Amino acid sequence: MSADLSDTIIALATPPGRSAIAVLRLSGPDCLGFLSARARGQGWKDRPRESFLTRLMDAQGQEIDQALVTYFPSPHSYTGQDVVEISVHGSTWVCRTLLQSALDFGLRLAQPGEFTQRAFLLGKMDLLQAEGVRDLIDSETGFQARVARQQLDGELSRRLAPFKDELVSVISHMETALEFVEDEVAPEGRERLTGRLAGGVGFLADLEESFQVGRLVRDGITIALVGRPNVGKSSIFNALMRADRAIVTEVPGTTRDALRERLNLHGIPVQMVDTAGIRESADEVERLGVERTLREVAEADVAVFVVDGAEAFSDEDSRSWGAVRGLKPLLVVNKRDKGVMIEVPSEVEGACSGRIEVSALKDEGLEELRERLWSLAGGEGASSLEGALLTSVRQQQCVKECRQALMAGLEGYRRGLSEEFALYDLRRALEALGRLTGEVTLDEVLNEIFSNFCIGK
Ligand code: GDP
Repeated sequence: MSADLSDTIIALATPPGRSAIAVLRLSGPDCLGFLSARARGQGWKDRPRESFLTRLMDAQGQEIDQALVTYFPSPHSYTGQDVVEISVHGSTWVCRTLLQSALDFGLRLAQPGEFTQRAFLLGKMDLLQAEGVRDLIDSETGFQARVARQQLDGELSRRLAPFKDELVSVISHMETALEFVEDEVAPEGRERLTGRLAGGVGFLADLEESFQVGRLVRDGITIALVGRPNVGKSSIFNALMRADRAIVTEVPGTTRDALRERLNLHGIPVQMVDTAGIRESADEVERLGVERTLREVAEADVAVFVVDGAEAFSDEDSRSWGAVRGLKPLLVVNKRDKGVMIEVPSEVEGACSGRIEVSALKDEGLEELRERLWSLAGGEGASSLEGALLTSVRQQQCVKECRQALMAGLEGYRRGLSEEFALYDLRRALEALGRLTGEVTLDEVLNEIFSNFCIGK
């Protein structure tokens, strides 16, 4: 991705396709030049951040559409540059023609995430906040949105600030001691210095730990329902869907596959895998399908083993059991409305994380099932969540490197190594922290982050 800030970029900020209105966004030094050339009137120059009704023309002076134009002069804009937002009628022809007209004028189409990248490069937000923007746009549940908003609001950056200040202060203290040899830090001074940073190790460890929940919130979990045909997996699945609204993904082209619905379990996005297809088969294609399903089951975060409470445990049940026995599944005995509850072999029940009796047909026990699933998914950790948490592997990696470098530095210094050695490690810790917030950046990291954005953001 080009980090060139001198181009003026344009993109459709709303999804492509027919809609009531469409919003195009521009950022760069040529925003006003474009408006002067292609829009009637000039009012926006004197009254920034107000909307103006105007008419947009193509290069030949032919009208494209009536539009509402808002001008955000630098530096008080999303990117920090001059920004213009144009609302037009959401016709594909209007949008296409307007974009073409902008390209003819010399503007360039924005890459995914380029607006936010500019905001980052121009100091409007740090890297953690930029990731918050991406996560907020990607959020499908209220809980996800709340966590992303916290990050966007700079909660994580704020929490890191006191630790960073302390680190910088200790580093400069040691540097001074090195420069003025006669000021060599006395043993009690050493203790004080290490003491000031010792709390940081715990703080970083907690932060690292928060990724367990952060990952859950951001990526959700997969729950696999396993059991022989006819035990009621689909019925349970559907009952859970009814109780908890399914998540509707609006990505065009995604067909809603009945076996892979997503549902919202108290704010945690859940992908359910129904394993109706697990059975022995001579058919090659089917066998491959079964293998794939078995792999998915093994990778699921939570496995559920379903049996029919009204029918004796059969060989077929045993075969299904084989797919989940090592996963400490939750045992669900279905069809309790039939009034007979079979014995489940004790070695099966003993290898499960718990047992719960339900009736998918009569909608009984499903609330409890949902609670159990939520809890198995780690939901308590998520609900006790306070403040900021790490939501990406990148963040976790930076925090880990910071903590390890800090520990190495402290340990050596406590053992009596000179400031020089400690400084080497503490600077590494500071550098890792810088990478976390984006003060120290590598192009590859930026590319990785911003290319996951949608165009126009
Ligand atoms: P799957 O093959 O495991 O997905 O099972 P289905 O969900 O298709 O259910 C198989 C049959 O059992 C259907 O006829 C369902 O109506 C019935 N069934 C499912 N759950 C219950 C239940 O809780 N009680 C009773 N009585 N029947 C059920």
